[in-house]
Amino acid sequence: MSDFPHVLPTYNRAPITFERGEGVWAIAQNGTRYLDLGAGIAVNALGHANPDLVGALIEQAGKIWHVSNLYNIPQQEKLADLLVENTFADTVFFTNSGTEAAELAIKMARKYHDEKGEPERVEILTFEGAFHGRSTGAIAAAGSQKMVKGFGPLMPGFRQLPFGDTEALRTAITNRTCAVMIEPVQGEGGIRPLPDEDLREIRKLCDDTGTLLILDEVQCGMGRTGRLFAHEFAGIAPDIMMVAKGIGGGFPLGAVLATQSAAAGMVAGTHGSTYGGNPLACAVGVRVMEIVAEPDFLAEVTRKGALMRQKLEGLVASHPRVFESVRGQGLMLGLKCKIAPGDLVQAGYSQQLLTVAAADNVVRLLPPLNITDEEIAEAVDRLDKAAGSLNG
Ligand SMILES: *Cc1c(COP(=O)(O)O)cnc(C)c1O
Repeated sequence: MSDFPHVLPTYNRAPITFERGEGVWAIAQNGTRYLDLGAGIAVNALGHANPDLVGALIEQAGKIWHVSNLYNIPQQEKLADLLVENTFADTVFFTNSGTEAAELAIKMARKYHDEKGEPERVEILTFEGAFHGRSTGAIAAAGSQKMVKGFGPLMPGFRQLPFGDTEALRTAITNRTCAVMIEPVQGEGGIRPLPDEDLREIRKLCDDTGTLLILDEVQCGMGRTGRLFAHEFAGIAPDIMMVAKGIGGGFPLGAVLATQSAAAGMVAGTHGSTYGGNPLACAVGVRVMEIVAEPDFLAEVTRKGALMRQKLEGLVASHPRVFESVRGQGLMLGLKCKIAPGDLVQAGYSQQLLTVAAADNVVRLLPPLNITDEEIAEAVDRLDKAAGSLNG
């Protein structure tokens, strides 16, 4: 047996092992309680071991786990109903991850134009700093050197533009353009919200040219910003939208939402997934949607986001050598740092605080959406101590 790590070492892991969780608290094997502002990268939207979600999962686990999409799946139909009722969408396809949602979004957009007799419309315009997943298609879409280097010929048909540069977009759209694909708030790119007027402008450019608008709300969707989906702030709707992360509350689940028109070409046999939309995932997803889509719940996310932001502004002011600014929306917040973000994440571990680094020198704060006011105060207190320990 070689001494090569048995788990493929594609991650630089922090030396912490969690055993269980309670709400915003992740509890390590040695009993240390960490305040979790990472939430598994915006996944545990309702915290760890949420009794409602545990109940939904256990109830389904005792009945039937998996049947495949060869048969009807009532939990899947119910979740699709909830998503359609609460969004622009007419139809939903379930996946197990954001990456798989990206793959279908790309296929659906190209099929749409093919069906309309314009098979040459294959080019998808994306933006620098974007993240859409790690499949060959998704890395080609984002196009960053870090993700594509060494992986051979990229899937053709993608072109990256400066983030939010609507002028560049205007000239980039040609009679070969299929779709524009963008995150309303970039996550991995460093919590960079696209201004509402830019999103409206992009929608208009798409409408004027018959181009589809694909929104990637894998990280910013499912209530994270205080709206069920972030594009609602701009008062526009996409043609196709990718969802994942928060939608399963920690159970692997993703989805592609689409209008009837955008999805028209996706007839029987054109796409599939063995696991996608399986009864366990959808039973949990239904419960997540029932809680998160409630206007009162979303209003609380907005209120708590504002509270946290206000406290973070104070934090930035008292550590001018560590922090530059706060940005984001709702409970999708970023601290732009003057130091390496990884150093703050490390210092956080010493304060039993979990945060996540992002590009553009940003540390992400993505707590469970049901974090309390007291826990917000405690989190900012710990960030204050972490920043202080960095000589700032
Ligand atoms: C995480 C993420 C993805 C990929 O999702 P996976 O579930 O990791 O495949 C795609 N887009 C965005 C915006 C993301 O944040």
